[in-house]
Amino acid sequence: MTSKKIAIIGAGISGLACAGQLSQADYAVTVFDKSQGVGGRMSHRDFEKWGADHGAQYFTTKDPLFTAEVQKWIKEGVASPWLGKIATYTHGQSKALADTKQRFVGVPAMTAPAKFLAKGLNIELNHTITSINRAHDHWELCIHDEQSLTDQFEQVIFAIPPVQAKHLIARYSKQLSAVCDQANMLPCWTLMAYLKQPLDLPFDGAFVNDSLFSWIARDNTKPERPRYETWVAQASHAWSQEHVDLSHYEVEPALVEAFNALTGASCDLYQSHLWRYAKLETESTINFSLDSQMQLGLCGDWLRASTIEGAWLSGYLLAQEFISLND
Ligand SMILES: Cc1cc2nc3c(=O)[nH]c(=O)nc-3n(C[C@H](O)[C@H](O)[C@H](O)COP(=O)(O)OP(=O)(O)OC[C@H]3O[C@@H](n4cnc5c(N)ncnc54)[C@H](O)[C@@H]3O)c2cc1C
Repeated sequence: MTSKKIAIIGAGISGLACAGQLSQADYAVTVFDKSQGVGGRMSHRDFEKWGADHGAQYFTTKDPLFTAEVQKWIKEGVASPWLGKIATYTHGQSKALADTKQRFVGVPAMTAPAKFLAKGLNIELNHTITSINRAHDHWELCIHDEQSLTDQFEQVIFAIPPVQAKHLIARYSKQLSAVCDQANMLPCWTLMAYLKQPLDLPFDGAFVNDSLFSWIARDNTKPERPRYETWVAQASHAWSQEHVDLSHYEVEPALVEAFNALTGASCDLYQSHLWRYAKLETESTINFSLDSQMQLGLCGDWLRASTIEGAWLSGYLLAQEFISLND
């Protein structure tokens, strides 16, 4: 039995997958996240009377390890297939997508699998890690600039996007900093809309070709959602990049107008969200990275593929490598 203390920064799906494996192997794991809840980009936003999945829209499975994990989620009632009609949408014409892909979603919201993985783990929410310090042969994490965490850790794993990881690592690991430098994350402006009347469109999700949006979806067609009409529309990475420095107030008129032009409907209620580090520009084959000398590690979607599967596998594989090295 080992009691090696490990800190994981980030309670997205990669950090939680990693934490679960390490906890099962009897490591003393603490996960820190700056948000109020777990899940990271696998997320759902609730407003006064409505809500929508405003990050990842669905997930697919390819790798046998992740396929088995999703079957577990389905059995536990935290994921379910989404049978929504998926199409391409160009110049007002929709064409059903001729793919046989099975799409899954979290139920009752996209955050559900993350909440399931978080059960039984030691998770500190509302903790923004602003720096790490080497104290003798241990790591000490600082939250909110000044305040040091009293706990010390033998190993720190960063399950956060590369720009944020590099900021914390640069002083201590040239190796991991170089890995961070190789990844480029693209932004995504997202519009969430509530409509009083259902939209008369022949699809529930569509890859859009001639708009500032690249994807729109009828969120309420996902299983176990309230029935009122909600849509999520994601701007293309190119458009989002051009508008990345603008505020919500500056961007929302363009998003709402484009939604209206695309669907013929006006939004009765709406909110926007900017994902500054939404998706990886080019897929990676690294899976994870470890600096064994400094006892630091990196995992996250950006080390494999910008999907829930890619993120989960990255965290899972890092934990397996760590366990085998420390056996
Ligand atoms: C708009 C959008 C649409 C997407 N659509 C899909 C899709 O349809 N299908 C699909 O499979 N994938 C999709 N993805 C990608 C998928 O959501 C991600 O690949 C996956 O969720 C990433 O998980 P992660 O654990 O690597 O990182 P994240 O989910 O980003 O988790 C990182 C966590 O670290 C925390 N954090 C960051 N910095 C700090 C700090 N300094 N201190 C403490 N905590 C910190 C954050 O709060 C966050 O919770 C989409 C992503 C976006 C943004």
